[in-house]
Amino acid sequence: MGYEVIARKWRPQQFADVVGQGHVVQTLENALASNRIAHAYLFVGPRGIGKTSIARIFAKALNCDTGMTATPCDTCDSCLEIMGGTSLDVREIDGASNNSVDQVRELRETVKYAPARGRFKLIIIDEVHMLSNSAFNALLKTLEEPPAHVKFFFATTEPQKIPATIISRCQRFDLRRIPVADIIERLNLIARDEKVKIEDDALLAIARGSEGGLRDAESALDQLIAFRGKAITEEDVLQVFGLVSHQTLETLSDCILSGEMGAVIGNVDALEQAGKDLQRLVLELMDRFRNRLVASYGSSGGGVDVERLLRICDILSETDERMRFSLSKRILLETALVRCARAAKVATLEEIIAQINALKAAGGVVTVAPQLAPSPAPAPAAPAPPAAPVARRAAPPAATATAPAPAPPPASPEEPAVRTPTHSRTHTPASSPPPAGDELAKLTAQWPQIVAHAGRIAVAVQGALKDAVPTGVDGDTVHIDFDPEFASELQLFESPRNRKAIERSLAGVLGRPVMATFDTWKEKPARVAEVPTPAQSYAAAPPSDAAPPAPRKGNAQAWKQREEVKQVLDMFNGTIVDVRE
Ligand SMILES: [Zn+2]
Repeated sequence: MGYEVIARKWRPQQFADVVGQGHVVQTLENALASNRIAHAYLFVGPRGIGKTSIARIFAKALNCDTGMTATPCDTCDSCLEIMGGTSLDVREIDGASNNSVDQVRELRETVKYAPARGRFKLIIIDEVHMLSNSAFNALLKTLEEPPAHVKFFFATTEPQKIPATIISRCQRFDLRRIPVADIIERLNLIARDEKVKIEDDALLAIARGSEGGLRDAESALDQLIAFRGKAITEEDVLQVFGLVSHQTLETLSDCILSGEMGAVIGNVDALEQAGKDLQRLVLELMDRFRNRLVASYGSSGGGVDVERLLRICDILSETDERMRFSLSKRILLETALVRCARAAKVATLEEIIAQINALKAAGGVVTVAPQLAPSPAPAPAAPAPPAAPVARRAAPPAATATAPAPAPPPASPEEPAVRTPTHSRTHTPASSPPPAGDELAKLTAQWPQIVAHAGRIAVAVQGALKDAVPTGVDGDTVHIDFDPEFASELQLFESPRNRKAIERSLAGVLGRPVMATFDTWKEKPARVAEVPTPAQSYAAAPPSDAAPPAPRKGNAQAWKQREEVKQVLDMFNGTIVDVRE
């Protein structure tokens, strides 16, 4: 007997053998039992999940010599011919290669005649969305007045490309990706029959790699048997398909959650050296964190984790998009995972509010309530917009707040603010209304729009600029500083194209041509110390009557001595950069 590939040899011949599409099979069996057969069926779903297999079984069921049945006999002439692909009553057409109007016209001619031996003429068109418009029109004429002896089965991966006039004349079934457990069960069955010894982890890796497509999983098994013979390990699977092991994924996601940047970078390095598919890695990590997200919804008090996991999932899905168009996948992946690790470490808004309210309950004077500011731009009416008096120092080891710090007693807008000059060209534009012509304030306020605009000109810069802020305007030069953690992104701007993209966006806002320079910041600018979403800011209540009299404005040292200020500085690992009254 000649060699037959597994996917073909194991193609289901009965509805009962179809894996993971119970909802479809059940409906078709009922239709056969009650003799309510539509003229046309449309099977929708990703490749390799059983669309044409189901159509073929249905064809046998309709034409079996034993009578119309949900369990065709597989032994009569009709069944054997259909299985052997020689039945005159079953036409299988590949829409991708037979998509011309002539071919559909010819098809229309043949369906006029009665079936050769069975009850029906059965037309199976795979990838039906590939038909040309005129072919669809020709097909539509038949579908509008179908001869009673003709049934159509259409299969497609892209239903949105099929005209609505066709779809509306079909009974539509959406097939789903096959669950990992079902694929493993099927592979196990096949492996036993083929006398192949295969590790459980290897089966899991194949199932993961096939993304719910049983045919892909079966082809992978074929390939592995050819490569390894009759004993297959997880390592073989990972090697052949560029997948990352279960264990490595576990380690990497743990490193991200515990914020070990060095370990994260080291892991990426090793995986790239080993020739792993980095795009694939992002998808698998995304899957992993999504599972954790679902799990943490179930547990009580998981709110904080949910926030972090959501942020990580966001970063990963954005990275997946960007990697598709990027040549330097590794840099993108590294920066993304470092951002994830950071997202996992920073305190969430809820935690900060809880901490501050606890402080208040303990007798402090600071109250904090989240409030929605009308816009990210500074508004004179809001007593304490994002420019916090407390700026973060270099990244501390433990979970650290990076949300806006609470302000001391509110500033009265009439009096000039006193600034402690911590870094020369860093302005803190947010606490008082920006004087006319304060270009940095303008850039700061419109930074998200500037980044988005630059991203439309040069896709690569958009993600990178999210980790940067404008820190000064000197004449025709705009300074843009990066978080030192993302120093690697500076090299993006060595490309004239990327540089021009941001310069054009800046010029658009300032209304004059400017040049941009890029650097890392020495100390985190107060402006970015740090608003999770631009729309959120904090209001601080004035000291209560019971509190000791407040020190005079500008006296940072005196403020520093106050117990509640000390606690806030501790909490955020901050320094006082600005005191106002
Ligand atoms: Zn039969």
